[in-house]
Amino acid sequence: LEPGPKAVMITLNGYACQRRTPLQHHNTVLTEALLVLAENAEFCEDEGRNIAFKRAVSVLKALPQAVRKMGDLQGLPCLGEHSQRVIKEILEDGKSREVETTLQSEQYQAMKSLTGIFGVGVKTADRWFREGLQQPSDVARSGQRLNHAQQAGLQYYNDLNTPVTKAEADVISRIVEGVVQEVLPGAEITLTGGFRRGKQTGHDVDFLISHPEEGREEGLLPKVVSLLETQGLLLYQKTTRNSYLETKEGPARPPSNMDRFERCFSIFKLERPRHSTSPEEPPQAACEESPRGEDSALEQLAGERQDWKAVRVDLVVTPVSQFAFALLGWTGSQLFERELRRWAGQEKNMSLSSHALFDNKRKQYLRASSEEEIFAHLGLEYIPPCERNA
Ligand code: ATP
Ligand code: MN
Ligand code: MN
Repeated sequence: LEPGPKAVMITLNGYACQRRTPLQHHNTVLTEALLVLAENAEFCEDEGRNIAFKRAVSVLKALPQAVRKMGDLQGLPCLGEHSQRVIKEILEDGKSREVETTLQSEQYQAMKSLTGIFGVGVKTADRWFREGLQQPSDVARSGQRLNHAQQAGLQYYNDLNTPVTKAEADVISRIVEGVVQEVLPGAEITLTGGFRRGKQTGHDVDFLISHPEEGREEGLLPKVVSLLETQGLLLYQKTTRNSYLETKEGPARPPSNMDRFERCFSIFKLERPRHSTSPEEPPQAACEESPRGEDSALEQLAGERQDWKAVRVDLVVTPVSQFAFALLGWTGSQLFERELRRWAGQEKNMSLSSHALFDNKRKQYLRASSEEEIFAHLGLEYIPPCERNA
């Protein structure tokens, strides 16, 4: 028998933080299908299944070519029996019954639109769904007791579910930069999150704010927020104070995924670009209140279009000594972060957070002033932001 073309077996490491995962990849048909199942597992509060599907997706994203047959998957990590079954069906029939059924299910659709409301998590959405609510307009009509975040989430539902473009992120960068400089000259802002990984759109814009002189950043955020408010640039904001404390015994257990930086989750009011002779002109910041006056809670649901757009912005303040950890922690992707922490704990007996790295064996903090140093402490090859799209 003539040997066929030599099969090229791809090998990949088991942790997403050991692999390069670019933004563009070759298996979107498979990953989009598996992401539906991951999302559905999240809606059912089945975290194990949610992570399992996400790990499978991230392996497919890291492959240098499209999967054509099941043999191509040989030797790859993280592809469980369930994921393989779905992949096989898609390779054979072009689609997966389970994915199609999920997409059409009332529960999935309702959970998807209800969790799409800013301030609404899976638990709340599930309760509303069981009370018969399926869409944001149902919630608005139902007279549910809503917190401030959820009220804003309903009010700006359409805008907040419209992807933020890189151009809009750049305009917001300039606004934030200007206000931060006015409050504390010398302070520095850094764009993090998906945009730092090279994404062209995102669900929000994430910034780190720091100052090269340790301690100068203290008390900065309330001033920044108040200046933004004075300029009419904020539609919503919730500021939380820094509550990070370092102890000799290392980080508190269990280490939380949430960090403790001074932060502000906000919604910016961004003026839309005017129709002008130069269509490339970037959008300008809104500097005045909308002349329309009071906003109806359902304005956006009714589809009325304003001359501004609501955009989610996260501002996080970090002391410069923690900057590298904050940068690594806020650049994402979410799965990449999770895998970094898992690697640190399981393989290195270390605890990684967005504040610090602690060596549990030697009982000491490992300092770092760059992401490269943190990867080195962890015994990992450095992965640049644009290849952390796990
Ligand atoms: P998108 O483009 O959809 O915004 P993203 O990757 O920027 O994608 P975000 O939800 O904005 O996603 O989160 C950016 C990073 O910040 C993620 O790595 C996430 O782990 C981290 N992060 C988000 N919220 C918190 C939080 N409350 N505490 C700590 N880290 C967080
Ligand atoms: Mn983001
Ligand atoms: Mn964010």
